Amino acid sequence: MSARRISILGATGSVGLATLDLVGRAEPGRYEIVALTANSNAEALAELARRYRPEIAVIADPSKAAALKDALAGTGIASASGPEALVEAASRDADWVMAAIVGAAGLAPTLAALAPGRVVALANKECLVCSGDLFMTRARDVGATVLPVDSEHNALFQALDDDHRGYVDSVTLTASGGPFRTWSLDEMARATRKDALAHPVWSMGAKISIDSATLMNKGLEVIEACRLFDLRSEQVKVVVHPQSIIHGLVEYSDGSVLAQLGAPDMRIPIASALAWPERMRTPAERLDLARIAKLDFEKPDEARFPALALARTALMHGEGMTSALNAANEIAVETFLNDHIGFLDMIAVVSDSLDEVDGAETLPKRFADIDEAIATDLRTRDVARGVVKRLTAKRA
Ligand code: NAD
Ligand code: MG
Repeated sequence: MSARRISILGATGSVGLATLDLVGRAEPGRYEIVALTANSNAEALAELARRYRPEIAVIADPSKAAALKDALAGTGIASASGPEALVEAASRDADWVMAAIVGAAGLAPTLAALAPGRVVALANKECLVCSGDLFMTRARDVGATVLPVDSEHNALFQALDDDHRGYVDSVTLTASGGPFRTWSLDEMARATRKDALAHPVWSMGAKISIDSATLMNKGLEVIEACRLFDLRSEQVKVVVHPQSIIHGLVEYSDGSVLAQLGAPDMRIPIASALAWPERMRTPAERLDLARIAKLDFEKPDEARFPALALARTALMHGEGMTSALNAANEIAVETFLNDHIGFLDMIAVVSDSLDEVDGAETLPKRFADIDEAIATDLRTRDVARGVVKRLTAKRA
């Protein structure tokens, strides 16, 4: 079997490292690494590059160019830095690309990864929230295959069979409920960064952990599901399932429901995308249903977690508004992580930013191109920063 040429965008992150963990366990020669990329941690990237021997290692932060180059001196591995280098690395000749950059920063490189016959394993959900129609249309036009890596969407992908796509009534995304599933609003108002980062089931990067605590993650995932599978918002249901054993369900017109189950370990969905259309062995824990004994389900509490409704409303307005939702949320999460606003303030910042953007301009239902998407993203970030400033000034 010839080696599969793969690139990993966001190699130093939680999904990137889980992908490399699987690659490291494969028989030698199974994979050839084309490019590894990271944001600003040159040491971590260089260490991965020395171990996995890509053709090129790319750091987004230009101020880290020299550090990366020095760390790779004498290895024969090329290095580059900056946004253009990231896009160049993403478009390099590979069979399979893992898109695991977090946030709208992944938009340009992930779009650049789409190429004829290439498989793009998509973890970067923000990319679909910002400009999913644009992204999916481009993928179809160029003939790239997009495989969802987000566990719920990967589950749906596995349970959706092509012959019966026309018979799908609805799909259901499960949500663990996050660390505050049983907390009162008063308790949530006082939640610290540490409380919010302590996810009960999944171990993930900081941004998605905070999104899981507000349930904005599930809101983004509803949008992601609609765009990936061409569904309407009403067709995408959400149920809280604290054990995170069932990841996604598809209900067909005859009442049959097909679900995908597995231990909450990202290596399972990543492996499904890495080996597709085949399967590969993973070290993930196997399900022992008798030991688990019981699976629980509950309705999401939209009063304590307004992010879900906010995301559905943005989805109704189209791509411009979902892009604004994502941008405002990225600013809100960043500000919370820097301890400048409280936990519940995050949703207030997103909601106020959307009102302000909506009042000021008519956002497009669909973006014509990536420049339009990036412009909306940048404008909304400014608005959200203003909202944060007013909020913190009021408190001071
Ligand atoms: P992470 O924060 O652990 O890693 C993010 C990666 O992106 C790092 O390699 C970082 O260097 C890189 N990066 C960050 N900002 C960048 C920038 N401005 N330019 C270039 N590179 C940048 O995040 P993660 O948890 O691995 O999540 C990655 C993506 O996968 C997110 O979109 C997330 O929603 C999605 N996802 C993650 C999980 C999970 O279990 N971690 C599950 C489902 C979906
Ligand atoms: Mg998910």
